[in-house]
Amino acid sequence: MSRLADHFYNEFHTNFALQGLMNDAQQRLIEALKAVLPAANLLWKREDTAPYECDGLAAYRQLPLAVALPETEAQVQEVLRLCLAHAIPVVPRGAGTGLSGGAMPMAEGIVLSTAKMNRILDIDPLSRRARLQPGVRNLAISEAAAPFDLYYAPDPSSQIACSIGGNVAENSGGVHCLKYGLTVNNVIKVRAVLMGGDIVEFGTDGLDAPGLDLLGVMIGSEGMLAVVTEVTVRLVPKPPVARVIMASFDDMTKAGNAVADVIAAGLIPAGLEMMDKPATRAVEEFVHAGYDLDAEAILLCESDGTAEEVAEEIERMSSVLRQSGATRIQVSDSEAERMVFWSGRKNAFPAAGRISPDYYCMDGTIPKKHIATLLNQIKEMEGRYGLRCMNVFHAGDGNMHPLILFDGSDQDQWHRAENFGNEILEACVALGGTVTGEHGVGIEKINTMCVQFNAEERDAFFGVKAAFDPARLLNPDKAIPTLHRCAEYGRMHVHHGQMPHADLPRF
Ligand SMILES: Cc1cc2nc3c(=O)[nH]c(=O)nc-3n(C[C@H](O)[C@H](O)[C@H](O)COP(=O)(O)OP(=O)(O)OC[C@H]3O[C@@H](n4cnc5c(N)ncnc54)[C@H](O)[C@@H]3O)c2cc1C
Repeated sequence: MSRLADHFYNEFHTNFALQGLMNDAQQRLIEALKAVLPAANLLWKREDTAPYECDGLAAYRQLPLAVALPETEAQVQEVLRLCLAHAIPVVPRGAGTGLSGGAMPMAEGIVLSTAKMNRILDIDPLSRRARLQPGVRNLAISEAAAPFDLYYAPDPSSQIACSIGGNVAENSGGVHCLKYGLTVNNVIKVRAVLMGGDIVEFGTDGLDAPGLDLLGVMIGSEGMLAVVTEVTVRLVPKPPVARVIMASFDDMTKAGNAVADVIAAGLIPAGLEMMDKPATRAVEEFVHAGYDLDAEAILLCESDGTAEEVAEEIERMSSVLRQSGATRIQVSDSEAERMVFWSGRKNAFPAAGRISPDYYCMDGTIPKKHIATLLNQIKEMEGRYGLRCMNVFHAGDGNMHPLILFDGSDQDQWHRAENFGNEILEACVALGGTVTGEHGVGIEKINTMCVQFNAEERDAFFGVKAAFDPARLLNPDKAIPTLHRCAEYGRMHVHHGQMPHADLPRF
């Protein structure tokens, strides 16, 4: 630590402590962290910790006690050991792009950010594997693998920023996941540190591992079980050719059914995405890609493989889409045109940001045959809540992303948006689906978990958490609702109109 840094460090810490803002345990923890982390890797001033007060779900904010930015696995071990010894909760954080509040801090806890653990440790083109530190950006993996004609298939729309550690914790998906699988299907090994500082490793370099599938338990565990410090992923060959069909429909129900028809025909597109009319209009104004503005819905259906495979598949896909009622079909003729067709879908979130001060992105999953039913229910809810909603989503997975448009400066609008979102998620469960497709539960969907799972199932989740984190200090109060919370949520249903997350700090 430089002398100047040391000076500011001590000065602030003393002031902070003098103001009585930290209790004894917190003060002792900060002192102890100073001994194991370089000065630049521990933040505690308000202006330094402010960027960490929320993730992509910016409606809820909370300043943490401090932010630790370890650079090595050994430092992660030290930080966790100290937090356990001082009974201080820890919220792991990757890039903070999560949309369910999973990385939102706790006032009395620290944020453990992996931003400085961002090295690609190894790319092995022969075994088609990459070994990565947790802070490596998703897109950086494919960029590093590109010289070997390989890439990492799971492609969240946030891939330019989100980290592989965050992807593992959320079991993230993307356009390519219909054909190539989610994170869980593309990660073969995870190394992580438990709250007590012990290192655990799950998965093997082989196809199967003996024992219980704890790799599957780790993936999607939302930072509640261990801090991921190394991830080994599978790389896949870049397909030589990819072409995409843009199909217009004059009716939402026909478009929803077309998705089910494509899959039922035995086709597995490399991407099958849908946009409704409000979404198409918003993105067209933004990217000017030539989308059909008269269409009630647009489907983007991609094929990849060799030129012969793609030609045959595009023919079959077009035929199914026509039979399902497509009014117009365009097929990309060049890579440039393919990128233009996708540009609207890829820019849907910023396009929503252009037409509304705020938007709230939901993430439920339903059986594909019910897509049209849910979209029609959402239309009805729009009228009831007095808010607009645009839909742009991974249709092939039945993973819906309704974007509820609202103005966050008006608390009543936000209140309505929250209730609207909750009702959509409950409708997903009623249709045989789930409250999350890829964004995780975090704090956002913790109430609707009460609708999805009964008390015994929730107890089983707590049992797994306790096996990894008996002190309940790793990202507590996220993802699994307590009995008490579910009772409160039940009462809220009786007294309509209450805030679904009345207990959370907000903007
Ligand atoms: C514009 C936009 C588009 C998006 N599109 C998609 C999409 O298409 N598909 C998709 O799946 N998601 C999408 N997301 C959501 C988000 O990008 C993903 O959930 C992503 O995986 C989060 O990664 P992160 O590094 O930002 O994690 P964070 O937001 O920092 O953390 C997410 C969760 O992971 C935990 N965590 C992070 N790192 C670790 C670690 N090393 N060990 C243990 N736990 C950890 C945190 O505690 C938290 O619970 C989108 C988000 C935005 C803003």
